[in-house]
Amino acid sequence: MTRDHITAVEKSQAWLKENTKRYAFKKLEREVVITGACVECGSCVAGCPVEAITGERIENKYVPVLTGKCIACGTCYAMCPRTSVLQDDIIGEFSSVWRVKTLGDHNHQDGGAVTSVLGYLLDKKEIEAAVVAGKSKELPWMPVAKRVTTKEDILDSGGTIYTHSQVIEEMHNCFKENLSSIGVVGTACNIDAIQRMQEHQGSYLNIDSKTDVFKISLFCMESFDYDGLVGFLKGEGLDIGEVERFAITKGNFIVTVGGEDKSWPVKDLDAIAASSCSYCTDLTGMNSDLSCGNIGSDDGWTTVLVRSKRGDKALKAVIKEGLVEAEEIDEKDLQAVINTARLKKNKRFKLKPPH
Ligand SMILES: Cc1cc2nc3c(=O)[nH]c(=O)nc-3n(C[C@H](O)[C@H](O)[C@H](O)COP(=O)(O)OP(=O)(O)OC[C@H]3O[C@@H](n4cnc5c(N)ncnc54)[C@H](O)[C@@H]3O)c2cc1C
Repeated sequence: MTRDHITAVEKSQAWLKENTKRYAFKKLEREVVITGACVECGSCVAGCPVEAITGERIENKYVPVLTGKCIACGTCYAMCPRTSVLQDDIIGEFSSVWRVKTLGDHNHQDGGAVTSVLGYLLDKKEIEAAVVAGKSKELPWMPVAKRVTTKEDILDSGGTIYTHSQVIEEMHNCFKENLSSIGVVGTACNIDAIQRMQEHQGSYLNIDSKTDVFKISLFCMESFDYDGLVGFLKGEGLDIGEVERFAITKGNFIVTVGGEDKSWPVKDLDAIAASSCSYCTDLTGMNSDLSCGNIGSDDGWTTVLVRSKRGDKALKAVIKEGLVEAEEIDEKDLQAVINTARLKKNKRFKLKPPH
């Protein structure tokens, strides 16, 4: 190794130690090589500072193999184009993170941050309407995207429905009716649809810059196929029509019926996850103004990632107006969000190899 190369390796090692978790080659092997996600580029082999990894030809396929002693420095994992180690890749950019609890008396899932912020924006006429998910009258717990225009109306729309909701379609209806400023709540996939419409040169949301969307994303590990959910509950002797509340907390899916909670590990419901969820790697909704979920906070609180200036302005305003209680969260609780988001990113590696 030349002197320059040694210095570069030392610098890179110091940076990885400071900024990332340092994973050993075994993790890369488990998640990327064995699953078939490996692109055979050789970056792990080339990057290993102790030359412990060899690119071997096995049945004419290039396979990274550990042939020396791994020092768990994290280089191979960090340099692999199929992994995510940097915080920005995992939960996106944000300026601050809070735990928030509403001081209002209204329907909500966790801390009621979403309803409080949207209620405030409607009240101050900063948005003309908010598009949220209501419940169908015909099918229990089937979401129906709906628009609300007053603070009073939004207070009834809190709570989580764990099935895809067509909030984007309703947002479009609002614009077609000449509303120009809308708040939209949705999972990362919904918010990505808005982002696409705002950035794509062929989209009228981009062409007609008069439209404005305040985007609130909900953390989402997965949503469920409606019929699958009905079937799952039936198999457990439950009728979806009797369910009072659904929740996902600390890896468990919780269903409240007759005032009593029943719970299952969320992984028991993997088979009924919406098919589109296996393509998603974004837990928090990186393209939003505010991202809201429960991970990182105690029950009854919402964790809120602030991602834009107007997201910051809206959250600070609801705090100042005394509508919510709020405190900035510490590194440990933020780490819980990062760890779950990383888990979601890595879920794709559990796909069965195609050959
Ligand atoms: C499919 C799904 C999966 C989720 N998974 C997780 C998870 O794994 N971990 C986690 O921490 N949080 C998860 N969340 C987010 C969590 O359930 C809460 O929505 C979030 O913490 C905000 O709580 P709140 O009390 O501030 O919101 P509330 O004040 O209760 O407001 C919630 C708002 O979301 C709207 N809404 C409800 N369901 C939908 C939907 N399907 N599509 C669009 N809008 C909707 C409601 O109409 C309401 O306006 C998930 C949400 C969804 C929709």
